[in-house]
Amino acid sequence: MTIKNKLRAGIGFLFTLALICCGMSIYFLNQLSSDAGAILKDNYKSVQYVQNVLSTIDSHPGKLTPEQIKVIDKNMALQDRNVTEVGERQFTDSARLTFEKLKEAGNDELQERQLSLRFRQHLYNVMRVNMDAISRKNDIANATSKRGSLLVAFLGAFLFLVAFSFAVNFPGYIANPIKELTARIKEVSNKNYHQQIHFESNDEFGELGEAFNNMTRKLDEFENSNLASILFEKRRIETIINSMQDAIIGLDEKQVIIFANQVACNLIGMKASQLNGEYAPDIALENDLMRKLLVNDQAKLRIFADNHEGFYSRESLSVSSKDKVIGKVIILKNITEYQQLDEAKTNFIATISHELKTPISSIKMSLKLLEDERIGDVNPEQRQLISNIDDDTRRLLLITGELLDMAQVETGKLQLNFGSTHPQNIVDYAVKAIKFIADQKHVEIKVKCDESLPKVHADLDKTTWVLINLLSNAIKYSHEKSTVELVVKKHKNDEIEFSVTDHGKGIEDQYLPRLFERYFKVPNTTSEQGGTGLGLAIAKDFIEAQAGKISVDSEIGSGSTFYFTLKRAIAAA
Ligand code: ADP
Repeated sequence: MTIKNKLRAGIGFLFTLALICCGMSIYFLNQLSSDAGAILKDNYKSVQYVQNVLSTIDSHPGKLTPEQIKVIDKNMALQDRNVTEVGERQFTDSARLTFEKLKEAGNDELQERQLSLRFRQHLYNVMRVNMDAISRKNDIANATSKRGSLLVAFLGAFLFLVAFSFAVNFPGYIANPIKELTARIKEVSNKNYHQQIHFESNDEFGELGEAFNNMTRKLDEFENSNLASILFEKRRIETIINSMQDAIIGLDEKQVIIFANQVACNLIGMKASQLNGEYAPDIALENDLMRKLLVNDQAKLRIFADNHEGFYSRESLSVSSKDKVIGKVIILKNITEYQQLDEAKTNFIATISHELKTPISSIKMSLKLLEDERIGDVNPEQRQLISNIDDDTRRLLLITGELLDMAQVETGKLQLNFGSTHPQNIVDYAVKAIKFIADQKHVEIKVKCDESLPKVHADLDKTTWVLINLLSNAIKYSHEKSTVELVVKKHKNDEIEFSVTDHGKGIEDQYLPRLFERYFKVPNTTSEQGGTGLGLAIAKDFIEAQAGKISVDSEIGSGSTFYFTLKRAIAAA
Protein backbone atom coordinates (compact mmCIF):
# COMPACT_ATOMS: atom_id res chain seq x y z
CA MET A 1 0.00 0.00 0.00
CA THR A 2 1.32 3.45 -0.83
CA ILE A 3 1.98 6.00 1.94
CA LYS A 4 -0.83 8.14 0.53
CA ASN A 5 -3.30 5.27 0.92
CA LYS A 6 -1.94 4.40 4.34
CA LEU A 7 -2.47 7.98 5.44
CA ARG A 8 -5.96 7.90 4.01
CA ALA A 9 -6.72 4.58 5.76
CA GLY A 10 -5.32 5.81 9.09
CA ILE A 11 -7.27 9.05 9.07
CA GLY A 12 -10.38 7.21 7.79
CA PHE A 13 -10.09 4.69 10.62
CA LEU A 14 -9.88 7.47 13.23
CA PHE A 15 -12.82 9.21 11.59
CA THR A 16 -14.88 5.99 11.68
CA LEU A 17 -14.09 5.49 15.36
CA ALA A 18 -15.19 9.06 16.09
CA LEU A 19 -18.42 8.44 14.13
CA ILE A 20 -19.14 5.20 16.05
CA CYS A 21 -18.58 7.03 19.32
CA CYS A 22 -20.95 9.83 18.31
CA GLY A 23 -23.55 7.32 17.00
CA MET A 24 -23.50 5.38 20.25
CA SER A 25 -23.86 8.56 22.29
CA ILE A 26 -26.81 9.70 20.19
CA TYR A 27 -28.42 6.23 20.45
CA PHE A 28 -28.23 6.19 24.24
CA LEU A 29 -29.42 9.77 24.54
CA ASN A 30 -32.40 8.86 22.37
CA GLN A 31 -33.16 5.81 24.44
CA LEU A 32 -32.95 7.87 27.59
CA SER A 33 -35.26 10.48 26.18
CA SER A 34 -37.76 7.83 24.99
CA ASP A 35 -37.77 6.28 28.49
CA ALA A 36 -38.39 9.67 30.04
CA GLY A 37 -41.02 10.42 27.39
CA ALA A 38 -42.85 7.19 28.21
CA ILE A 39 -43.02 8.20 31.86
CA LEU A 40 -44.35 11.62 30.98
CA LYS A 41 -46.78 10.51 28.33
CA ASP A 42 -48.35 7.45 29.97
CA ASN A 43 -48.14 7.52 33.73
CA TYR A 44 -47.77 11.19 34.58
CA LYS A 45 -50.97 11.99 32.62
CA SER A 46 -52.93 9.24 34.41
CA VAL A 47 -51.78 10.63 37.78
CA GLN A 48 -52.83 14.08 36.58
CA TYR A 49 -56.37 12.87 35.58
CA VAL A 50 -56.82 11.09 38.88
CA GLN A 51 -55.63 14.16 40.80
CA ASN A 52 -58.05 16.32 38.76
CA VAL A 53 -60.91 14.01 39.70
CA LEU A 54 -59.93 13.94 43.38
CA SER A 55 -59.51 17.71 43.62
CA THR A 56 -62.89 18.18 41.88
CA ILE A 57 -64.57 15.90 44.45
CA ASP A 58 -62.81 17.71 47.29
CA SER A 59 -63.73 21.14 45.91
CA HIS A 60 -67.39 20.68 46.99
CA PRO A 61 -68.07 18.11 49.72
CA GLY A 62 -71.53 16.51 49.72
CA LYS A 63 -73.58 15.69 46.75
CA LEU A 64 -71.85 16.06 43.37
CA THR A 65 -72.90 19.11 41.41
CA PRO A 66 -73.49 18.83 37.65
CA GLU A 67 -70.27 20.85 37.03
CA GLN A 68 -68.26 18.42 39.18
CA ILE A 69 -69.78 15.48 37.36
CA LYS A 70 -68.89 17.06 34.04
CA VAL A 71 -65.23 17.58 35.00
CA ILE A 72 -64.98 14.10 36.51
CA ASP A 73 -66.57 12.57 33.42
CA LYS A 74 -64.11 14.35 31.20
CA ASN A 75 -61.10 13.23 33.25
CA MET A 76 -62.41 9.69 33.63
CA ALA A 77 -62.90 9.51 29.85
CA LEU A 78 -59.31 10.74 29.32
CA GLN A 79 -58.02 8.16 31.85
CA ASP A 80 -60.01 5.50 30.11
CA ARG A 81 -58.05 6.14 26.92
CA ASN A 82 -54.73 6.33 28.79
CA VAL A 83 -54.61 2.88 30.41
CA THR A 84 -51.05 1.51 29.96
CA GLU A 85 -50.15 -0.53 33.03
CA VAL A 86 -51.09 -4.02 34.07
CA GLY A 87 -54.10 -3.87 36.52
CA GLU A 88 -54.78 -0.23 35.64
CA ARG A 89 -57.72 -1.20 33.38
CA GLN A 90 -59.42 -3.09 36.18
CA PHE A 91 -59.02 -0.18 38.66
CA THR A 92 -60.13 2.35 36.03
CA ASP A 93 -63.21 0.29 35.13
CA SER A 94 -64.05 -0.16 38.83
CA ALA A 95 -63.66 3.56 39.41
CA ARG A 96 -65.91 4.33 36.45
CA LEU A 97 -68.52 1.84 37.63
CA THR A 98 -68.46 3.25 41.16
CA PHE A 99 -68.67 6.79 39.76
CA GLU A 100 -71.73 5.80 37.69
CA LYS A 101 -73.34 4.42 40.80
CA LEU A 102 -72.41 7.56 42.73
CA LYS A 103 -74.09 9.69 40.11
CA GLU A 104 -77.27 7.63 40.38
CA ALA A 105 -77.29 7.46 44.15
CA GLY A 106 -80.31 9.26 45.63
CA ASN A 107 -80.35 11.22 48.76
CA ASP A 108 -79.05 8.35 50.84
CA GLU A 109 -76.14 9.99 52.51
CA LEU A 110 -74.64 6.83 53.84
CA GLN A 111 -74.67 5.06 50.52
CA GLU A 112 -73.30 8.13 48.89
CA ARG A 113 -70.44 8.31 51.38
CA GLN A 114 -69.65 4.64 50.93
CA LEU A 115 -69.65 4.95 47.12
CA SER A 116 -67.53 8.10 47.29
CA LEU A 117 -65.06 6.27 49.53
CA ARG A 118 -64.92 3.31 47.16
CA PHE A 119 -64.55 5.65 44.21
CA ARG A 120 -61.62 7.34 45.88
CA GLN A 121 -60.18 3.93 46.70
CA HIS A 122 -60.22 2.94 43.00
CA LEU A 123 -58.76 6.27 42.00
CA TYR A 124 -55.91 5.82 44.50
CA ASN A 125 -55.30 2.37 43.09
CA VAL A 126 -55.05 3.82 39.58
CA MET A 127 -52.66 6.45 40.92
CA ARG A 128 -50.57 3.89 42.80
CA VAL A 129 -50.26 1.64 39.76
CA ASN A 130 -49.02 4.64 37.75
CA MET A 131 -46.75 5.85 40.53
CA ASP A 132 -45.23 2.37 40.74
CA ALA A 133 -44.77 2.42 36.96
CA ILE A 134 -43.12 5.85 37.15
CA SER A 135 -40.75 4.59 39.79
CA ARG A 136 -39.96 1.45 37.79
CA LYS A 137 -39.48 3.35 34.51
CA ASN A 138 -37.26 5.82 36.31
CA ASP A 139 -35.12 2.89 37.41
CA ILE A 140 -35.01 1.63 33.82
CA ALA A 141 -33.99 5.09 32.54
CA ASN A 142 -31.31 5.26 35.22
CA ALA A 143 -30.03 1.84 34.21
CA THR A 144 -30.08 2.87 30.53
CA SER A 145 -28.17 6.02 31.37
CA LYS A 146 -25.57 4.08 33.39
CA ARG A 147 -25.17 1.46 30.69
CA GLY A 148 -24.88 4.19 28.06
CA SER A 149 -22.30 6.09 30.07
CA LEU A 150 -20.32 2.91 30.66
CA LEU A 151 -20.39 1.90 27.01
CA VAL A 152 -19.51 5.39 25.82
CA ALA A 153 -16.68 5.49 28.41
CA PHE A 154 -15.37 2.12 27.18
CA LEU A 155 -15.62 3.21 23.59
CA GLY A 156 -13.96 6.53 24.43
CA ALA A 157 -11.10 4.75 26.26
CA PHE A 158 -10.68 2.34 23.37
CA LEU A 159 -10.71 5.24 20.92
CA PHE A 160 -8.20 7.12 23.05
CA LEU A 161 -5.85 4.12 23.09
CA VAL A 162 -6.15 3.62 19.35
CA ALA A 163 -5.67 7.34 18.65
CA PHE A 164 -2.77 7.49 21.14
CA SER A 165 -0.94 4.55 19.61
CA PHE A 166 -1.64 6.01 16.18
CA ALA A 167 -0.27 9.41 17.29
CA VAL A 168 2.82 7.75 18.83
CA ASN A 169 3.60 5.34 16.02
CA PHE A 170 2.51 7.08 12.89
CA PRO A 171 5.04 10.00 12.93
CA GLY A 172 7.80 7.43 13.49
CA TYR A 173 6.53 5.43 10.59
CA ILE A 174 7.12 8.45 8.34
CA ALA A 175 10.13 9.98 10.14
CA ASN A 176 12.24 6.85 10.85
CA PRO A 177 12.95 5.98 7.22
CA ILE A 178 13.74 9.65 6.51
CA LYS A 179 16.13 9.67 9.48
CA GLU A 180 17.84 6.52 8.29
CA LEU A 181 18.05 7.86 4.77
CA THR A 182 19.64 11.09 6.03
CA ALA A 183 22.25 9.14 8.01
CA ARG A 184 23.11 7.00 4.96
CA ILE A 185 23.37 10.04 2.70
CA LYS A 186 25.84 11.58 5.19
CA GLU A 187 27.91 8.39 4.99
CA VAL A 188 27.83 8.54 1.20
CA SER A 189 29.05 12.13 1.30
CA ASN A 190 32.05 10.77 3.26
CA LYS A 191 32.75 8.49 0.30
CA ASN A 192 31.44 5.40 2.10
CA TYR A 193 29.65 3.87 -0.85
CA HIS A 194 28.94 0.44 0.71
CA GLN A 195 25.66 1.76 2.08
CA GLN A 196 22.45 -0.26 1.61
CA ILE A 197 19.00 0.50 3.01
CA HIS A 198 16.44 -2.22 3.70
CA PHE A 199 12.96 -0.74 4.01
CA GLU A 200 10.64 -3.73 4.40
CA SER A 201 7.53 -1.90 3.20
CA ASN A 202 6.20 -1.92 -0.35
CA ASP A 203 5.32 1.75 -0.29
CA GLU A 204 7.20 4.82 -1.56
CA PHE A 205 9.87 4.28 1.15
CA GLY A 206 10.52 0.83 -0.26
CA GLU A 207 10.99 2.38 -3.70
CA LEU A 208 13.18 5.12 -2.24
CA GLY A 209 15.36 2.51 -0.49
CA GLU A 210 15.69 0.57 -3.74
CA ALA A 211 16.65 3.74 -5.66
CA PHE A 212 19.20 4.67 -2.95
CA ASN A 213 20.74 1.17 -3.04
CA ASN A 214 21.02 1.41 -6.82
CA MET A 215 22.70 4.79 -6.53
CA THR A 216 25.31 3.61 -3.97
CA ARG A 217 25.98 0.49 -6.07
CA LYS A 218 26.64 2.67 -9.12
CA LEU A 219 28.80 5.08 -7.10
CA ASP A 220 30.77 2.14 -5.71
CA GLU A 221 31.31 0.76 -9.20
CA PHE A 222 32.35 4.19 -10.43
CA GLU A 223 34.73 4.67 -7.49
CA ASN A 224 36.26 1.25 -8.08
CA SER A 225 36.67 1.83 -11.78
CA ASN A 226 38.16 5.27 -11.03
CA LEU A 227 40.46 3.75 -8.45
CA ALA A 228 41.50 1.08 -10.91
CA SER A 229 42.35 3.68 -13.56
CA ILE A 230 44.17 5.83 -11.01
CA LEU A 231 46.14 2.79 -9.85
CA PHE A 232 46.91 1.95 -13.46
CA GLU A 233 48.15 5.50 -14.11
CA LYS A 234 50.17 5.39 -10.86
CA ARG A 235 51.84 2.15 -11.94
CA ARG A 236 52.55 3.62 -15.34
CA ILE A 237 54.17 6.72 -13.86
CA GLU A 238 56.15 4.55 -11.44
CA THR A 239 57.41 2.46 -14.35
CA ILE A 240 58.42 5.60 -16.25
CA ILE A 241 60.16 7.06 -13.19
CA ASN A 242 61.91 3.75 -12.52
CA SER A 243 63.14 3.44 -16.07
CA MET A 244 64.72 6.89 -15.98
CA GLN A 245 68.48 7.29 -15.85
CA ASP A 246 68.24 10.09 -13.30
CA ALA A 247 67.69 9.49 -9.62
CA ILE A 248 64.30 10.82 -8.56
CA ILE A 249 63.03 11.14 -5.00
CA GLY A 250 59.59 12.51 -4.11
CA LEU A 251 58.82 14.00 -0.71
CA ASP A 252 55.52 15.24 0.61
CA GLU A 253 55.07 18.57 2.41
CA LYS A 254 56.06 16.92 5.72
CA GLN A 255 59.29 15.53 4.22
CA VAL A 256 57.97 11.98 4.14
CA ILE A 257 59.38 10.00 1.22
CA ILE A 258 56.62 9.17 -1.25
CA PHE A 259 58.75 7.43 -3.85
CA ALA A 260 62.35 6.83 -4.86
CA ASN A 261 63.20 5.23 -8.18
CA GLN A 262 65.69 2.39 -8.68
CA VAL A 263 68.60 4.71 -9.52
CA ALA A 264 67.92 6.78 -6.38
CA CYS A 265 67.76 3.60 -4.27
CA ASN A 266 71.09 2.43 -5.69
CA LEU A 267 72.73 5.78 -4.93
CA ILE A 268 71.29 5.95 -1.42
CA GLY A 269 72.09 2.27 -0.87
CA MET A 270 68.66 1.35 0.46
CA LYS A 271 65.64 -0.50 -0.91
CA ALA A 272 62.50 1.35 -1.99
CA SER A 273 60.53 -0.52 0.69
CA GLN A 274 62.94 0.87 3.32
CA LEU A 275 62.51 4.41 2.05
CA ASN A 276 58.87 4.76 1.09
CA GLY A 277 56.73 6.25 3.85
CA GLU A 278 59.76 7.12 5.98
CA TYR A 279 60.48 10.59 7.37
CA ALA A 280 63.45 11.77 5.24
CA PRO A 281 65.35 13.52 8.12
CA ASP A 282 65.24 10.19 10.02
CA ILE A 283 66.91 8.43 7.08
CA ALA A 284 69.38 11.35 6.82
CA LEU A 285 70.59 10.58 10.36
CA GLU A 286 72.25 7.43 9.05
CA ASN A 287 72.65 8.14 5.37
CA ASP A 288 75.20 10.65 4.10
CA LEU A 289 73.66 11.16 0.69
CA MET A 290 70.17 11.78 2.09
CA ARG A 291 71.70 14.26 4.52
CA LYS A 292 73.42 16.08 1.65
CA LEU A 293 70.22 16.08 -0.36
CA LEU A 294 68.17 17.59 2.45
CA VAL A 295 70.66 19.98 3.97
CA ASN A 296 73.11 20.85 1.26
CA ASP A 297 72.10 23.23 -1.46
CA GLN A 298 75.12 22.29 -3.57
CA ALA A 299 74.23 22.04 -7.23
CA LYS A 300 76.92 19.45 -7.94
CA LEU A 301 77.52 16.34 -5.86
CA ARG A 302 80.22 13.72 -5.98
CA ILE A 303 78.66 10.36 -5.10
CA PHE A 304 80.37 7.03 -4.62
CA ALA A 305 78.00 4.16 -5.39
CA ASP A 306 78.34 0.65 -6.86
CA ASN A 307 82.15 0.94 -6.61
CA HIS A 308 82.12 3.93 -8.96
CA GLU A 309 82.55 7.59 -8.36
CA GLY A 310 80.04 9.71 -10.19
CA PHE A 311 79.11 13.35 -10.50
CA TYR A 312 75.50 14.39 -10.17
CA SER A 313 73.76 17.70 -10.60
CA ARG A 314 71.10 18.24 -7.99
CA GLU A 315 67.82 19.89 -8.82
CA SER A 316 65.00 20.41 -6.36
CA LEU A 317 61.51 21.22 -7.62
CA SER A 318 58.70 22.38 -5.34
CA VAL A 319 55.36 20.85 -6.21
CA SER A 320 52.43 23.18 -5.66
CA SER A 321 48.72 22.75 -5.98
CA LYS A 322 46.32 25.69 -5.72
CA ASP A 323 49.12 27.97 -4.44
CA LYS A 324 49.97 25.51 -1.67
CA VAL A 325 53.25 23.61 -1.57
CA ILE A 326 52.37 19.90 -1.38
CA GLY A 327 55.86 18.46 -1.65
CA LYS A 328 59.08 18.44 -3.60
CA VAL A 329 60.93 16.29 -6.08
CA ILE A 330 64.70 15.93 -5.93
CA ILE A 331 66.35 14.99 -9.21
CA LEU A 332 69.96 13.83 -9.40
CA LYS A 333 71.20 13.96 -12.97
CA ASN A 334 74.23 11.85 -13.78
CA ILE A 335 76.76 14.31 -15.24
CA THR A 336 79.84 12.12 -14.80
CA GLU A 337 80.38 12.02 -18.55
CA TYR A 338 80.16 15.80 -18.91
CA GLN A 339 82.40 16.18 -15.88
CA GLN A 340 85.02 14.00 -17.52
CA LEU A 341 84.71 15.96 -20.77
CA ASP A 342 84.95 19.20 -18.80
CA GLU A 343 88.06 17.99 -17.03
CA ALA A 344 89.58 16.96 -20.36
CA LYS A 345 88.75 20.44 -21.73
CA THR A 346 90.29 22.14 -18.72
CA ASN A 347 93.42 20.00 -18.96
CA PHE A 348 93.60 20.77 -22.65
CA ILE A 349 93.24 24.50 -22.04
CA ALA A 350 95.83 24.32 -19.27
CA THR A 351 98.30 22.48 -21.50
CA ILE A 352 97.71 24.72 -24.52
CA SER A 353 97.93 27.97 -22.59
CA HIS A 354 101.01 26.74 -20.81
CA GLU A 355 102.60 25.68 -24.09
CA LEU A 356 101.63 28.97 -25.74
CA LYS A 357 103.13 31.08 -23.01
CA THR A 358 106.76 30.24 -23.97
CA PRO A 359 106.51 31.06 -27.71
CA ILE A 360 104.49 34.21 -26.99
CA SER A 361 107.10 35.33 -24.49
CA SER A 362 109.81 34.73 -27.07
CA ILE A 363 107.79 36.76 -29.66
CA LYS A 364 107.62 39.54 -27.08
CA MET A 365 111.41 39.29 -26.57
CA SER A 366 111.98 39.43 -30.31
CA LEU A 367 109.75 42.52 -30.56
CA LYS A 368 111.77 44.19 -27.84
CA LEU A 369 114.93 43.45 -29.83
CA LEU A 370 113.35 44.79 -33.01
CA GLU A 371 112.61 48.05 -31.23
CA ASP A 372 116.26 48.33 -30.23
CA GLU A 373 118.06 50.75 -32.56
CA ARG A 374 121.23 48.68 -32.36
CA ILE A 375 119.56 45.93 -34.35
CA GLY A 376 118.84 48.33 -37.19
CA ASP A 377 116.56 51.16 -38.22
CA VAL A 378 112.89 50.60 -38.82
CA ASN A 379 110.76 53.01 -40.77
CA PRO A 380 107.62 54.56 -39.17
CA GLU A 381 105.23 52.06 -40.87
CA GLN A 382 107.30 49.13 -39.61
CA ARG A 383 107.36 50.73 -36.14
CA GLN A 384 103.57 50.96 -36.20
CA LEU A 385 103.33 47.29 -37.23
CA ILE A 386 105.71 46.30 -34.44
CA SER A 387 103.59 48.27 -31.94
CA ASN A 388 100.43 46.51 -33.16
CA ILE A 389 102.08 43.10 -32.85
CA ASP A 390 103.25 44.10 -29.38
CA ASP A 391 99.67 45.03 -28.36
CA ASP A 392 98.29 41.76 -29.67
CA THR A 393 101.05 39.77 -28.00
CA ARG A 394 100.29 41.48 -24.70
CA ARG A 395 96.63 40.57 -25.12
CA LEU A 396 97.54 37.01 -26.05
CA LEU A 397 99.71 36.73 -22.96
CA LEU A 398 96.88 38.09 -20.81
CA ILE A 399 94.41 35.60 -22.31
CA THR A 400 96.72 32.62 -21.89
CA GLY A 401 97.41 33.78 -18.34
CA GLU A 402 93.71 33.95 -17.56
CA LEU A 403 93.05 30.58 -19.18
CA LEU A 404 95.82 29.06 -17.11
CA ASP A 405 94.46 30.61 -13.93
CA MET A 406 91.01 29.29 -14.68
CA ALA A 407 92.33 25.82 -15.44
CA GLN A 408 94.16 25.89 -12.15
CA VAL A 409 90.99 26.82 -10.32
CA GLU A 410 88.92 24.17 -12.11
CA THR A 411 91.37 21.38 -11.54
CA GLY A 412 91.63 22.34 -7.91
CA LYS A 413 95.32 23.15 -8.33
CA LEU A 414 94.96 26.71 -7.17
CA GLN A 415 97.78 27.46 -4.76
CA LEU A 416 97.31 30.33 -2.36
CA ASN A 417 100.12 31.99 -0.48
CA PHE A 418 98.38 33.52 2.48
CA GLY A 419 100.00 36.30 4.37
CA SER A 420 99.13 39.28 6.49
CA THR A 421 99.07 42.39 4.33
CA HIS A 422 97.96 45.95 4.82
CA PRO A 423 95.18 46.83 2.30
CA GLN A 424 97.23 49.84 1.27
CA ASN A 425 99.85 47.49 -0.21
CA ILE A 426 97.29 45.77 -2.42
CA VAL A 427 95.91 49.14 -3.49
CA ASP A 428 99.36 50.54 -4.29
CA TYR A 429 100.40 47.55 -6.41
CA ALA A 430 97.13 47.55 -8.34
CA VAL A 431 97.01 51.32 -8.94
CA LYS A 432 100.61 51.30 -10.08
CA ALA A 433 99.97 48.49 -12.51
CA ILE A 434 96.90 50.13 -13.99
CA LYS A 435 98.18 53.70 -14.06
CA PHE A 436 99.42 53.54 -17.61
CA ILE A 437 96.03 52.45 -19.01
CA ALA A 438 94.21 55.01 -16.86
CA ASP A 439 96.45 57.81 -18.07
CA GLN A 440 95.93 56.80 -21.65
CA LYS A 441 92.19 57.32 -21.19
CA HIS A 442 92.61 60.33 -18.88
CA VAL A 443 90.72 58.53 -16.14
CA GLU A 444 91.55 59.66 -12.63
CA ILE A 445 91.66 56.94 -9.96
CA LYS A 446 90.60 58.36 -6.60
CA VAL A 447 91.81 56.18 -3.77
CA LYS A 448 90.39 56.24 -0.28
CA CYS A 449 92.16 53.84 2.00
CA ASP A 450 92.64 54.69 5.63
CA GLU A 451 96.05 53.83 7.00
CA SER A 452 94.53 52.87 10.31
CA LEU A 453 92.75 49.94 8.69
CA PRO A 454 93.77 46.53 10.02
CA LYS A 455 95.78 44.08 7.95
CA VAL A 456 94.04 41.45 5.86
CA HIS A 457 94.65 37.71 5.65
CA ALA A 458 95.18 37.28 1.91
CA ASP A 459 97.26 36.08 -1.01
CA LEU A 460 98.83 39.35 -2.14
CA ASP A 461 99.36 38.36 -5.79
CA LYS A 462 95.89 36.91 -6.35
CA THR A 463 94.12 39.77 -4.58
CA THR A 464 96.13 42.36 -6.51
CA TRP A 465 95.25 40.50 -9.69
CA VAL A 466 91.51 40.76 -8.77
CA LEU A 467 91.79 44.47 -7.98
CA ILE A 468 93.70 45.16 -11.23
CA ASN A 469 90.99 43.27 -13.09
CA LEU A 470 88.21 45.33 -11.50
CA LEU A 471 90.08 48.61 -12.08
CA SER A 472 90.87 47.59 -15.65
CA ASN A 473 87.17 46.86 -16.30
CA ALA A 474 86.14 50.12 -14.60
CA ILE A 475 88.51 52.11 -16.83
CA LYS A 476 87.51 50.12 -19.90
CA TYR A 477 83.83 50.89 -19.43
CA SER A 478 84.32 54.51 -18.26
CA HIS A 479 84.03 57.56 -20.46
CA GLU A 480 87.23 59.47 -21.17
CA LYS A 481 88.26 62.03 -18.55
CA SER A 482 86.07 60.53 -15.88
CA THR A 483 86.92 59.20 -12.43
CA VAL A 484 87.07 55.78 -10.83
CA GLU A 485 86.85 55.52 -7.04
CA LEU A 486 88.70 52.86 -5.16
CA VAL A 487 87.53 52.70 -1.55
CA VAL A 488 88.72 50.37 1.19
CA LYS A 489 86.85 50.28 4.49
CA LYS A 490 85.84 48.10 7.40
CA HIS A 491 82.94 45.79 6.74
CA LYS A 492 81.32 44.02 9.67
CA ASN A 493 83.68 43.25 12.49
CA ASP A 494 86.18 40.95 10.93
CA GLU A 495 86.13 41.93 7.27
CA ILE A 496 87.63 44.60 5.02
CA GLU A 497 85.73 45.67 1.94
CA PHE A 498 87.32 46.87 -1.33
CA SER A 499 85.07 48.64 -3.81
CA VAL A 500 85.70 49.97 -7.31
CA THR A 501 83.16 52.44 -8.68
CA ASP A 502 83.00 53.75 -12.20
CA HIS A 503 80.63 56.22 -13.86
CA GLY A 504 80.36 54.38 -17.13
CA LYS A 505 77.41 52.96 -18.98
CA GLY A 506 76.39 50.51 -16.23
CA ILE A 507 75.02 46.99 -16.60
CA GLU A 508 71.39 45.95 -17.08
CA ASP A 509 69.80 44.20 -14.08
CA GLN A 510 69.05 41.05 -16.07
CA TYR A 511 72.77 40.41 -16.67
CA LEU A 512 73.98 41.00 -13.12
CA PRO A 513 73.41 37.45 -11.83
CA ARG A 514 75.39 35.99 -14.73
CA LEU A 515 78.33 38.41 -14.59
CA PHE A 516 80.56 36.05 -12.61
CA GLU A 517 79.92 33.06 -14.90
CA ARG A 518 82.76 31.78 -17.02
CA TYR A 519 82.97 33.20 -20.57
CA PHE A 520 80.00 35.49 -19.93
CA LYS A 521 80.09 38.87 -21.64
CA VAL A 522 77.30 41.38 -21.58
CA PRO A 523 75.75 41.34 -25.08
CA ASN A 524 76.85 44.24 -27.31
CA THR A 525 80.21 44.56 -25.52
CA THR A 526 82.58 45.63 -28.28
CA SER A 527 85.42 43.26 -29.13
CA GLU A 528 87.78 46.11 -28.38
CA GLN A 529 86.49 46.33 -24.81
CA GLY A 530 85.67 42.69 -24.08
CA GLY A 531 88.23 40.05 -23.33
CA THR A 532 87.65 36.37 -22.64
CA GLY A 533 84.76 36.85 -20.24
CA LEU A 534 86.85 34.97 -17.68
CA GLY A 535 88.19 37.87 -15.60
CA LEU A 536 85.27 38.18 -13.15
CA ALA A 537 84.83 34.38 -12.94
CA ILE A 538 88.45 33.95 -11.92
CA ALA A 539 88.18 36.94 -9.56
CA LYS A 540 85.24 35.23 -7.86
CA ASP A 541 87.19 31.98 -7.51
CA PHE A 542 90.21 33.82 -6.09
CA ILE A 543 88.14 35.79 -3.58
CA GLU A 544 86.00 32.84 -2.47
CA ALA A 545 89.12 30.71 -2.08
CA GLN A 546 90.19 33.32 0.50
CA ALA A 547 86.83 33.06 2.31
CA GLY A 548 85.71 36.40 0.92
CA LYS A 549 82.67 37.49 -1.10
CA ILE A 550 82.42 39.36 -4.37
CA SER A 551 79.36 41.25 -5.63
CA VAL A 552 78.19 44.03 -7.90
CA ASP A 553 75.71 46.94 -7.95
CA SER A 554 74.98 48.72 -11.17
CA GLU A 555 72.61 51.18 -12.71
CA ILE A 556 72.26 51.82 -16.39
CA GLY A 557 73.67 55.25 -17.26
CA SER A 558 75.17 55.88 -13.79
CA GLY A 559 77.89 53.26 -13.58
CA SER A 560 78.81 50.18 -11.58
CA THR A 561 80.40 49.29 -8.28
CA PHE A 562 82.19 45.98 -7.74
CA TYR A 563 82.86 44.92 -4.15
CA PHE A 564 84.89 42.19 -2.56
CA THR A 565 85.67 41.41 1.05
CA LEU A 566 88.66 39.79 2.74
CA LYS A 567 89.07 38.46 6.23
CA ARG A 568 90.89 40.57 8.71
CA ALA A 569 94.26 39.13 9.73
CA ILE A 570 94.46 37.77 13.25
CA ALA A 571 96.42 40.22 15.44
CA ALA A 572 99.33 37.85 16.11
CA ALA A 573 99.77 37.03 12.44
P1 ADP B 1 86.19 40.58 -19.90
O1 ADP B 1 87.54 39.95 -19.89
O2 ADP B 1 85.39 40.32 -21.09
O3 ADP B 1 86.18 41.96 -19.42
P2 ADP B 1 85.07 40.07 -17.35
O4 ADP B 1 84.72 38.77 -16.69
O5 ADP B 1 86.06 40.90 -16.68
O6 ADP B 1 85.43 39.70 -18.83
O7 ADP B 1 83.70 40.85 -17.52
C1 ADP B 1 82.59 40.21 -17.99
C2 ADP B 1 81.66 41.19 -18.66
O8 ADP B 1 81.14 42.08 -17.68
C3 ADP B 1 82.33 42.11 -19.64
O9 ADP B 1 82.31 41.52 -20.91
C4 ADP B 1 81.51 43.36 -19.60
O10 ADP B 1 80.47 43.27 -20.51
C5 ADP B 1 80.94 43.36 -18.20
N1 ADP B 1 81.61 44.31 -17.28
C6 ADP B 1 82.60 44.03 -16.40
N2 ADP B 1 82.94 45.14 -15.70
C7 ADP B 1 82.15 46.12 -16.13
C8 ADP B 1 82.01 47.51 -15.81
N3 ADP B 1 82.77 48.10 -14.86
N4 ADP B 1 81.07 48.24 -16.46
C9 ADP B 1 80.30 47.67 -17.40
N5 ADP B 1 80.37 46.36 -17.76
C10 ADP B 1 81.29 45.61 -17.14
